[in-house]
Amino acid sequence: LAAKVRQESVQIYRPSMGEVYRRRFQLVTQFRQAVEQGRIIVHYQPKVDLAHRELVGVEALVRWMHPEFGLVSPAEFVEAIEATGSIDILLEHVLDSVLAQLWQWRSAGLHITASVNLSVHNLLAENFPATVAAALRRHQVPAQLLTFEITESNVMTDPEHSLPVLRELHAMGIQLSVDDFGTGYSSLAYLRRLPIDEIKIDRSFVQGMGTDLSDLAIVRAIVDLGHSLGLRVVAEGVEEEAARDALREMACDEAQGFLISRPVPLDRFEAWLASRTVSIYDPASTTHVLR
Ligand code: C2E
Ligand code: MG
Ligand code: MG
Ligand code: MG
Repeated sequence: LAAKVRQESVQIYRPSMGEVYRRRFQLVTQFRQAVEQGRIIVHYQPKVDLAHRELVGVEALVRWMHPEFGLVSPAEFVEAIEATGSIDILLEHVLDSVLAQLWQWRSAGLHITASVNLSVHNLLAENFPATVAAALRRHQVPAQLLTFEITESNVMTDPEHSLPVLRELHAMGIQLSVDDFGTGYSSLAYLRRLPIDEIKIDRSFVQGMGTDLSDLAIVRAIVDLGHSLGLRVVAEGVEEEAARDALREMACDEAQGFLISRPVPLDRFEAWLASRTVSIYDPASTTHVLR
């Protein structure tokens, strides 16, 4: 009975299929114009070094300020535009915003990196590495400051085509990260084949760490696996101090999550940084130790 009630109550709140399709259709058809109108904006979420308690970088997470639907999550519209040419426009827009920002931060003495999420369609677009190289040159930002995040299922969609592109990006100096690690279907053997620098433990394991011993064991195993392969390990979805402390104890390298900061617009990120940074020893220091 409980299951039946739950099922029924879920259906009450679920929009009709017609509504879902109407909304999806609108998102797909309005996307290009939304970019031109400045409605697709980048939020930043800090990535911190657990051992040194320093800000090391930000992840760029895109949002759509939609006049009818409000703030639309990328979880909804990225998938909707993925099969259309708009996914390339999204990447171009995010990359331009992020690289312009990296240049600004660098000239203000803030030496941090930025991570940008890639869709497999971006990776397989014609001349993708050349497009990225041109953007880096245009913004005068060293490739080493840029990380691309890709999910394992994304890479494994078409490894024969995506692997050479990943190798080329890596050879340019761009860092590569496997996002949502642990949720894909592929075997671990592929990890050795990928030219990657970082893995990000999926937030479902991180969130379960405090209450579920198998999640805790999985997180520990991923940290150890990553380190044995010479990779940097990042935990995403860190919401509790206990999780952060456990991750630090496991020697997980970096953390990201609501405990540290939600993804926020640029001005709020900079305010967060100003309020959390303590000047240590040398006021001109380029390290940003967090309280
Ligand atoms: P992701 O790359 O795995 O990003 C992490 C997601 O977890 C983000 O959701 C972030 O807001 C959320 N998150 C961060 N910390 C916490 C936490 O402590 N607790 C919880 N519950 N959630 C947390 P968001 O911003 O809705 O993005 C969803 C996904 O959309 C991203 O997952 C990424 O795959 C995709 N995405 C975002 N921006 C872009 C983009 O510019 N291009 C592409 N292709 N995909 C993007
Ligand atoms: Mg990501
Ligand atoms: Mg993720
Ligand atoms: Mg994800």
